[in-house]
Amino acid sequence: QANERESLYLVSEFANTYFQKILHKTDQGKSIGLSYFKERGFTDETIKKFDLGYGLNEWQAFTDEALKQGYNLDYLSKTGLTIVKGDKRFDRFKGRVLFPIKSMSGRVLGFGGRILIADKKAAKYMNSPESEIYYKSKVLYGIYHAKQAIAKEDNCYLVEGYTDVIQFHQTGITNVVSSSGTALTPDQIRLINRLTKNITVLFDGDAAGMRASLRGIDLILEQGMNVKVCTFPEGEDPDSFAKQNTLEELKAYLTDNAKDFIQFKASILFEESKNDPIKKADTVRDIVNSISKIPDQIKKEIYIQECARIMDISESVLFTTLAQISSKAS
Ligand code: ATP
Ligand code: MN
Ligand code: MN
Ligand code: MN
Repeated sequence: QANERESLYLVSEFANTYFQKILHKTDQGKSIGLSYFKERGFTDETIKKFDLGYGLNEWQAFTDEALKQGYNLDYLSKTGLTIVKGDKRFDRFKGRVLFPIKSMSGRVLGFGGRILIADKKAAKYMNSPESEIYYKSKVLYGIYHAKQAIAKEDNCYLVEGYTDVIQFHQTGITNVVSSSGTALTPDQIRLINRLTKNITVLFDGDAAGMRASLRGIDLILEQGMNVKVCTFPEGEDPDSFAKQNTLEELKAYLTDNAKDFIQFKASILFEESKNDPIKKADTVRDIVNSISKIPDQIKKEIYIQECARIMDISESVLFTTLAQISSKAS
């Protein structure tokens, strides 16, 4: 319903203004939230650009203020900003620094909130729940601030986290968005596809998520896009790496280390399976399956030749496998 959605947008916009005010104008906001962002190396300009905020470490400070300003409890609850339990109300984002998540056109859809002190019991990040205005699978963090640069550079960097996006901007690379830790979806890829056909996926240097992310990348190929991947040194992520390097160094690193996705996947799989014939059979099917997603016939053929070389296997086996996979799919 259009009216209700508009009301959810208004509540979210109010919250965005409120959380920034708390960050910049209250003692707790300044001493805890703002100093946290400063310690991470974010400048005032960056903090303002991304509307970063802070939620007071109190049970219902935000909710009370919103109700006082005339916002409807129903909408506060539907955006997840307020958790309603019987006749009790709780602020969802208490004692967390906040990253507003915006649409392509800059409307606030929800928030990501980070705890400040490592705590095994609490999730490091907490996000707004899905609502009529916030569908996780259709949103990319940073798209509003990146869209022009993505079109201009004709490339989009895809990173894992909020802080990776922000640190890249501060360093001077602005064509960057984040899937915020979730697996990439076809709708998210379509958002990028409207702006460029080229994606460079940047993985955290912790390998954990990489195997899983490799799967998601087939979805990018399916949309006929060109994919490169780039890894960071062990223990680094795009945020920490950008922070330690100048713009020139960061650009050079990305240029030197971005590899074509299919070639990258083929070499990883080859390394993993070169001494294990049974595993090798599986990895051959895995890579050919990725190649089968590419709509362009000529590209498909070039990749088959390339992978045959990388994986030390005959082209004809790969072509036969491709034909089998393609006939099953159709
Ligand atoms: P930081 O540098 O602040 O520790 P990060 O962005 O490097 O954060 P990662 O652990 O690499 O954090 O996770 C990447 C992204 O995944 C986060 O930015 C966040 O969007 C999402 N994420 C991480 N942990 C959680 C969690 N516990 N719940 C929900 N989302 C999470
Ligand atoms: Mn990670
Ligand atoms: Mn990270
Ligand atoms: Mn990080």
